[in-house]
Amino acid sequence: MVKAVVGANWGDEGKGKITDMLAETADIIIRFQGGANAGHTIKNKYGKFALHTLPSGVFYDHTTSIIGNGVALNIPILFGEIQDIVGKGVPAPKLLISDRAQIVMPYHILFDQYEEERLAGKSFGSTKSGIAPFYSDKFAKIGFPVSDLFDTEENLKEKLERVIVQKNVLLEHLYHKPLLNVDELYKTLMEYKDMVAPYVCDVSLYLDKAIKEGKTILLEGQLGTLKDTDHGIYPMVTSSNTIAAYGAVGAGIPPYEIKQVITVCKAYSSAVGGGEFVSEIFGDEADELRKRGGDGGEYGATTGRPRRMGWFDCVASKYGCRLQGTTDVAFTVLDVLGYLDEIPVCVGYDIGGKVTTDFPVTRLLKEAKPVYKTLPGWKEDITGIREYDKLPENCRKYIEFIENEIGYPITMVSNGPSREDIIYRKSALKK
Ligand code: GDP
Repeated sequence: MVKAVVGANWGDEGKGKITDMLAETADIIIRFQGGANAGHTIKNKYGKFALHTLPSGVFYDHTTSIIGNGVALNIPILFGEIQDIVGKGVPAPKLLISDRAQIVMPYHILFDQYEEERLAGKSFGSTKSGIAPFYSDKFAKIGFPVSDLFDTEENLKEKLERVIVQKNVLLEHLYHKPLLNVDELYKTLMEYKDMVAPYVCDVSLYLDKAIKEGKTILLEGQLGTLKDTDHGIYPMVTSSNTIAAYGAVGAGIPPYEIKQVITVCKAYSSAVGGGEFVSEIFGDEADELRKRGGDGGEYGATTGRPRRMGWFDCVASKYGCRLQGTTDVAFTVLDVLGYLDEIPVCVGYDIGGKVTTDFPVTRLLKEAKPVYKTLPGWKEDITGIREYDKLPENCRKYIEFIENEIGYPITMVSNGPSREDIIYRKSALKK
C-alpha cells in the first residue's frame, strides 16, 4: 500500500515528524520531488537532525530509503547527510537512488546565486540551492540524469561541451562571472559517480515489485500545496509539484496505487520567503508565536531565517487539502498554542468587500483581507496527553471547528515533536 505524507500550506507543517512516525510500520520511504532547498527537522533517540535530501525514514534499520526520479539530487549534500547521521550513531541507511533522478550541477547553484544578485530587491527569496536553474534545465532537456555518470567519457564530455556553450554566454554577458570548464566539471561528475555508484538502481522497477509484494510505501513530500508550481502562489512557489499526485510521477508508480494521502496541517501558520500570506501577523504577537513555535522556535531548517508567522488559515488549508486529495489530516504543533487566552482563526478572505472561502489566484490574494473568528484558548500544557478525550474542551473545540471549516477529517493530532507525541482520533467526516 502506498501512502503520501504531504503539506497543506507553505511547508514546515511537521511532515518530517509524521513521516518518521509512520516509518515505524513502513518498508520503504521515498522522496519524490524538490531538493536540498527545504528541510525536515526530526527529533528521536539519536538526537535532533535537519534532513534536506535523505528521506525521513533513515533512522530505522528496517526501512529502505529512496531518492526518486523527481528529486533534484545534490550529491555532495546527500553524502554529507549520510556521514552526519552515521557519525551520530545512526546505522548506515539502506539507500536507493533512481538512475533517472537528475543531478544538481555545481553551476545550478551558481546561477541561482547570480540571478538572485541580479534581481536584488525583486528576487524570489530563493534558498540559492540551485533548484530553479535545475528544473529549468531538466525541462529544457539539458539536465544530467544519474545514468549519464555511467556513460563513456567521450559521450559525457561531448554533452557537457554542448550545455556549457550556452551557460558561458550567460556567465560572460549577463552575470560577468568566471566561465565553466568541461574538464573540471567532468572531474566533479566522476567524484559524484563514486559517491552514488553503490546505490543507483531502476527505482520504478523496484517499486513495482514492492507494491506487488504488499509492502508499505511512504511518499514523503517537501514543502506544501501553496508552494506547488501549478497550484501555489505563483511565482513565489518552488520549481516542482508538491502535491501527492506528483508522487506517482516522481517515484514512478501508478497513480491509483496511492491509497492514503495524509496532509499535514500546522495548528497555526508559518511561511519562509516571500509571497502571499493573508493571515500573517506582525510585531510582538508574531515574535511570541515564533519564539514558542515548533520545537525551539520557528526558524528555517535550511537557512535559519526567522519564519513569517500567522494564525491558522481555513481558506488556504481547505484548498491545500483539496489539491492534495486528502484522506487524513495530521494536525500538528497544537501544544504550542496553550499560552493564548484567545486564538484567532482566519475563516474567510474579504476581497473588494466580498467574502470568500475559496482560495483565489495570486492577483486576488494580494487584495485579500483576513476575516477572523476568535476561539477561546485552553491555557494548558497538552504535551504528554495520548487520548483525544483527555484534551481540554476548548482544545477539542478548536480542532473540531477547524475540521468543519476545512472539510477534511483530522485523524491525527500531534502535541509534541517526538514520535510518541501523537493522538489518534475518529473523525465524523471519515467514512
Ligand atoms: P517539515 O518540513 O514539514 O517536516 O517541518 P519542519 O521540520 O520545518 O518544522 C516542524 C518543526 O516542528 C520541527 O522542529 C519539529 O520537530 C516540530 N514539530 C513537529 N510536530 C510538532 C508538534 O506537534 N509539537 C511541537 N512542539 N513541535 C513539533
